[in-house]
Order: sequence, then C-alpha cells, then structure tokens
Amino acid sequence: MRKHSAVWLFVCISLIVFLFVLSSCSNITSFFMCSNGHTIEEVLAKDSTCSEHGLSHAWRCSVCDKYFEDEEGKIEISYSSLVIPAKGHTPVTDYAVEPTCIVEGRTEGSHCSVCGEIITKQEVVPAFGHVPVVDAAYPPTFDTIGKTEGSHCSRCGATIVPQVDIPALGAQGSTNLSFIENNSGYSVTGIGTCTDTNIVIPSIYNGKTVTRIDNSAFINCLGFTSISIPDTITSIGEFAFSGCSNLKSINIPESVTKIESGAFRGCSSLTSIELPSGITKIYPSTFQLCAGLTEIVIPDKVTVIDSYAFSDCVGLVSIDIPNSVTKIGARVFAGCSNIKELIIPRTVQSIGNGAFFGCAMLQKIEIPSGIKYLDNNLFNGCSGINELIIPTSVTSIGKSVFEGCNKLTTLTYYGTKAQWLLISVGDYWRINSAITYVECKNGRLTVKGGLYD
Ligand SMILES: [Zn+2]
Ligand SMILES: [Zn+2]
Ligand SMILES: [Zn+2]
Repeated sequence: MRKHSAVWLFVCISLIVFLFVLSSCSNITSFFMCSNGHTIEEVLAKDSTCSEHGLSHAWRCSVCDKYFEDEEGKIEISYSSLVIPAKGHTPVTDYAVEPTCIVEGRTEGSHCSVCGEIITKQEVVPAFGHVPVVDAAYPPTFDTIGKTEGSHCSRCGATIVPQVDIPALGAQGSTNLSFIENNSGYSVTGIGTCTDTNIVIPSIYNGKTVTRIDNSAFINCLGFTSISIPDTITSIGEFAFSGCSNLKSINIPESVTKIESGAFRGCSSLTSIELPSGITKIYPSTFQLCAGLTEIVIPDKVTVIDSYAFSDCVGLVSIDIPNSVTKIGARVFAGCSNIKELIIPRTVQSIGNGAFFGCAMLQKIEIPSGIKYLDNNLFNGCSGINELIIPTSVTSIGKSVFEGCNKLTTLTYYGTKAQWLLISVGDYWRINSAITYVECKNGRLTVKGGLYD
C-alpha cells in the first residue's frame, strides 16, 4: 500500500515538472529545440507606409520570438526598438463642387496624395433642378411667325418645353389657288376658285416650296386688288398678271430674279412697283399699258430693256435708266406721253426703232456717243423736243426719225459740216418737223428742203 502511494507521487511530480517546462517555452517545439540555443531566422527590413509601421533589419528566434542584433542570437534587442513608425497620410484637399440645375455637386473632402486613401469623404450634393418660367404663346401675324407656349429655366436658361413655330399667315396663304408641281416645288398656275380680294400666295403648298408664278397664272383676273408674293418665289412667268386692271398693290420679293414678257402688261391700276435688285433684263412688254404707273426704279444690274417694256405708260413723268443698260429695244418708251425728263446713259450701245415714239413732253435728248444708227421713228411725234444732240458716232438716220418734231428747229451735231453731209438719211426723216439748221462744230448748215425730207 505505501509503495503504491510512492509511485503515484512520482507520476504527479513528473507531470508538474513537465507542465512547468511546457509553460516556460511557448510551445512544444521550444521544449524540444530552444533550451540550448535559439532557432535564428532573418527579419528583413521593411519600410513604413502611411498607415503601417516598418521594421529594421534584425534576427529572431522562431521558437521564443525574441529579437537579436546578431545572427548568433547573443545581443537581444526589443521588438519596439526595431519598429519604424507609420508616416501618416499626406492630405490633399478635394474641393467642393457646386451643383447645377442638372448636375449634382460634392462637399469638400481630402485624400492622401501618397497612397490615394480617402481621408475625408466628399458627400454628394443633389442637383438643384430647373426653375421653370412660362414662355407665353403668341399668334402669327401676316408676315411674322407665332409660337406655342413653352418654358425655360430662370436659373440656367435651358429650354424645358420648346416653343413651336406657327407659320406666318402669309405662309399659309389664300386657299383654293391652283398649283402644279415643278422641278423645285410648286408653281401657282391660277386663281382657281379663290375669291380673295387680297391674294396671298403661300410659300408652302402640299409640303413643298412654292417657287414660281406660272405663265398667264392670273391673266385678266379682275377680282383682286392686291397680291402678296412670298420670298420663295424666284420667277414670274409670261403674262402672269397681264390685264389685271384692278391690281393696285403688289410686292415683288428680292428672291425674284426673272420677270418674263408681258408679266404686268395692262395693269392699269398699279401706281408704283419696286423691282428686285437681282433682275438683269426687263423683258418685252413687261409694263406695257401700265397707265397708272407714275414711278419705277430700274435696278442697276439691268443691261437690256427690251421692246415695248414701258410703252404707253402714260402716267410716267420721269424714269431713271441706270448706267448698266447697254440696249434699249424697239418702242420701249413709245406712247409715254408724259415723260418730261429722260437721260440716256453713255453705256447704251443701241436703241431700237420708235423707242421714244410719241413722247410728246420730252424736251431735251442727248444721244450717247456709242450710237451709230438713229433707228426708224425714233423721235416720231416728240412734239415737245426743242434740243437734240447728235454725236459724231452716228452714220445714218432712218425713216421718219424726227417726224412731227415741230418745236425742233436746230439739231446740235458734235462733228463738222463735212461729216454731217456724209450721214445718210432715210425717207421722211424730218417730215412735219421744224428742223431747219444743223449746228456743227465748225458752223451752221441749213437743211435743204426736198420731197423725202
Ligand atoms: Zn529562442
Ligand atoms: Zn497615405
Ligand atoms: Zn436650370
């Protein structure tokens, strides 16, 4: 029984010693390996970062976790002396951004310029949203467009609800006119069943542009007094308004570059008309018999005034011919019995027969120096002319050129008497006129009488 107790005591003491040794080294291994020398491993140096510490180079025992200066594990140093403290962040300001109506903003924040870590987070500031203001609707007038109601933002000016154009009433035009499709859109071909007294030609028909007033479109229409032409029209056809004797008012837009023959022939109620600046030719009979016309300005790109263009415009008192004109056709001003003043510019190279036939109020005419031929009947019936100048370029005078010029006693000729005598004259060139003398550069000639004078 005693021997038994002694065995138990030995076992207990052994167990206690074992547990003591076990607790003095950190693990089982140390119990076996660290008791007579450390198990050294190298601790590599490590730089510190913004937020993590670094370590200096050292040696360490992997069993007892002690640190040493030397590989032999003789000079122990503390772990804390190896620690290189963290550097801390280098903060940079992230500036605040103001929100706009539609883009969100941010509060001020910061981040580290070295590691990029966010130090102070920027918070989102919501967009303001637009501040709507109503853009009132307004109706169209004849020549200005209208708009539907819309809205915009009073803070940023952005359109919220766009306003939509309402076409000008003029663009809508008179209804029931007739049209035909052409290469570039539509031509107005006639009055159709339209009964408007103030006709408005639309700029758009059937979704396409109205570009032309066709030949004879309104010929002899007496039912309207005014017509408005949109600036989509580029040409007016032959006799388009011929015989519209009640037409008092018309606008021809600058878009029109061609007005064809007889377009306004016999528009006797028209008192004035403004021609677009782009036209280069006045076609034959364009304004013939426009008895009410008192003034007209011929645009300065016009080079040809063709035959009968203004004939029988008895209301015209004066007319300016621009010095772009090189040709005046036959009978252009024939029957313009009230024109008192007319200057033929030096640019004119030819004048057609009877161009001034019956201009009874004309008093003075100077024929420009490029003219070679005074065509038949040129001044026939010009009973008011008392002064007429003939340049040396003239080599022949046609038939009845001065017939009936009964106030014209003396012709002024810039050449010599000898040159005058070389000029050929046609039959009846001065019949029923008062022409008796030709005042030449070197003296006066008396014109001989004769059967065919
Ligand atoms: Zn150790
Ligand atoms: Zn950092
Ligand atoms: Zn806004």
